Order: sequence, then structure tokens, then C-alpha cells
Amino acid sequence: MDDVASNSPAQSADILLPCRECDLVVAVPEPEPGQWLRCPRCAHPLARYTPHDQTSPALAVTALIMLALALAFPYIRFEKSGVSDSMGLLDAATQLAAFHDPLLGIIVFTTIVVLPGCFLVALLWVHLSLSGRHRLPGTALLVRSLPRWQPWMMADVFAIAALISLIKIAGMAQIGLEPGFWAFSGFALALLFTVQRFHPLALWARLAGPPAPPEGARAGETAAGQGLVGCEQCGHLQARQAGRACQRCGARLHRRHPHSLQRTTALLVAAILCCFPAHLLPIMVTTSLGNTQPSTIISGVLQFIGHGDWPIALVIFVASVLIPFGKIMALGWLCLASRQNRQLDMAAQMRLYRITEWVGRWSMIDVFVVAIVVALVRLGNLLSIQPGPGGLAFAGVVVLTMLAAMSFDPRLIWDQQQRRNHDPTLFPRSH
Ligand SMILES: [Zn+2]
Ligand SMILES: [Zn+2]
Repeated sequence: MDDVASNSPAQSADILLPCRECDLVVAVPEPEPGQWLRCPRCAHPLARYTPHDQTSPALAVTALIMLALALAFPYIRFEKSGVSDSMGLLDAATQLAAFHDPLLGIIVFTTIVVLPGCFLVALLWVHLSLSGRHRLPGTALLVRSLPRWQPWMMADVFAIAALISLIKIAGMAQIGLEPGFWAFSGFALALLFTVQRFHPLALWARLAGPPAPPEGARAGETAAGQGLVGCEQCGHLQARQAGRACQRCGARLHRRHPHSLQRTTALLVAAILCCFPAHLLPIMVTTSLGNTQPSTIISGVLQFIGHGDWPIALVIFVASVLIPFGKIMALGWLCLASRQNRQLDMAAQMRLYRITEWVGRWSMIDVFVVAIVVALVRLGNLLSIQPGPGGLAFAGVVVLTMLAAMSFDPRLIWDQQQRRNHDPTLFPRSH
């Protein structure tokens, strides 16, 4: 259940929270358990009350058991002309390394196994610490770090990539699903639910108590307009002093992300440069009965269309072509719009920013498809698939556009509106 928080003056029981996407200070009453409170200006979810959350640790333990099973058992079996082979989850990374693509292997293994595994263990450590009388060492550091790992965990993207790989190979040979496949699918699902329930502000409330705003802080105005700064990690509103860390959680404080527009633009330019090798060089090379055939991202899409697999062709085209290009254009436009004084639709800009931030990781589908088919199809001259240099370049495009979205500060969108309105109480010139 969602509710919109109030931007009217705070009642005594209210907590003042700065919205991390538009900087408005919002008076947040204590919500009902499980209820989300949203920012009245930009609709960003501000707070959720989860007093004694037992479901998250249970989900995290389930996900870890599933991951262990997925690593212990074979993932997919492959059979052609009486020769059969099976791949494990680890093979998806080690085979890339064996074909002189160790960096891509590391990216795949880190995003589907290492980071999710570390996230789940760290989350269990935090919950164990919060449920005991004494805090365990490193609890604050972990609560501060966990949100940064979240976008880079891609088990769900890999699970979808596995389904696409099966359809891709189904025409070449017989395929069988092994126990590791089902265990990994269960792991991806349990991880998804764990991440959905993860809310750092609720953890900080249990770890450090409710945040106490400084004297005279007012709801309904921006934090920057009052000479204050909101901590992006724990939501604590405090006086702004250059170079000082958050009093409550120790995170670095920034009124806005430093050099946000310059960094975002530089990362976008690097992503555009990576697009050329990503789309011009082959991402995989298929050897069948001694004949080798390289394929690029686009020729892979055309192959699916040729075989009549329209839905898969569409998924690959959207994930590998439309999303990266759309993301570069959307972020470029947001950077330009943040510098201009023209009347623009704020809600539309925020929607564009959120979609851009959310869809980026799904572009990794094609990279994971390559990792799976390379590990699976290893029958030498009879039939084998090797990774091409385009795969690493494409992974580079995905990583760079994700970093660009993270370095863009959405509060700049709202600053631009306030500058245009010349409202000195909301945004004084000294900031
Ligand atoms: Zn907001
Ligand atoms: Zn903080």
C-alpha cells in the first residue's frame, strides 16, 4: 500500500526526511507496517516501516542455499550426434577466460555469483547484528555499502539469458535442463524478493534510531534552500559544512553529486566510442563441421528472425540496441535540459531518468547469452562457439551507461526549475 507524505509543516511526531531525488524536505509520519510513503513532489519512495523484519533473513538464507546447489550441480546438458556434454554455472565464466576473454569472464562471474553471494551474507550479518544486544563489527559499513552493490547483481538477467540461449541452441542439438538450472532460477527469484524488501533507511532507523533534524528545519522547502544537506545513505538532514561526513552514518555528504554533469557526459562519450567495436566486431564465432561463421549483435538478431523466432529477436534487439542507444540519448538530453532555463515537464524528466536507471542492466542479456553458449557448445570442429571481441566492448557500453546514470544527480532537474522561477527562498544564489 502506498501513501503520499505531507509537505505541510511538521507535526511534533513527524520525522523530516530530505527526498534524495528532488531534495524537498518532507514531514514523514510514522507509516503503517509495510506501507511505503512517497515524496509529494516527485513520487520517490521515501520510507517504509519494517519493525522486526524476519522475512528478509529467511529469504536471504533460501537464496544462499539455492546458489550453493546451483554451483554444485550441472546447469544445462547438450547432445549432438551421440556426443554429449554439460555445463556448470562456473563454466560460463571459466570458458570465457579459456578463450582469452578473462575480463568478460570476471564480469559475468562477479555479477551473477560473487556480488549476490556477498550481498546476501552481508545482509544476514546486518540482521544478526540488529537482532542481538551488541552490534557486530562492520555493521554500519555494510549497511552503507549494500545499496551500491544492488544494481550490479544480475542473477535475474542471467536467468532470462539462459532461456534465450536454450532457444538459440535448440535448433542445433538436443538440450536438457539439469538440477543446477532449477536451483539457479530459484536463487534468482529469492534474490529478487530479498532486494525488493531491502530498504536502507529502515535499517538505519533500527541501527541508529530516528534521525533528529537540526533546529529550524522546515518541511515543504528544499534542503539546499535552507543551507542543509540530506545524507543520501541514511536520510539524516543536517547543516552543510564543506568536507564533513554524515553525523549519523559517516557517509560522505554532497549537496549535489560532485561534477555530476561533466562526469555523466564523459561516461556517455566513452560509451558512444565503445558502441562502434560492440556493434561492428563479432560477439561470437560459430564453427560447424569445420566452417566458421562470425556473428555480430545485429546479425544474431537477423538470424533469429530468419528462424521465425520473432519474440526472441525482439528481446535481443530491445536489450542490445534500443536500450543502450535510448539510454545514451536520454541521459544526454537530461544533462542538456539541466543546464537550460526553458519550461520543461518535470514529471516527464523524472520518468525518463527512472526508466533509464532501471532498464540499463537488462542490456547484459546478450553478453550472458554469449557466456552460456560458449560454455555449452564445445564439440570442437563438429560444433563449437567461441566468444568474439565485440562481447567485451558491449559489456563496456552497458557498464559505462550504468555508471553514467549513477553519476547523474536527479536533483539537478529540480534545481533548474527553481532557478527558472528565481525563487530565493527555495534556492538562494549562495548555493
Ligand atoms: Zn522528491
Ligand atoms: Zn548518513
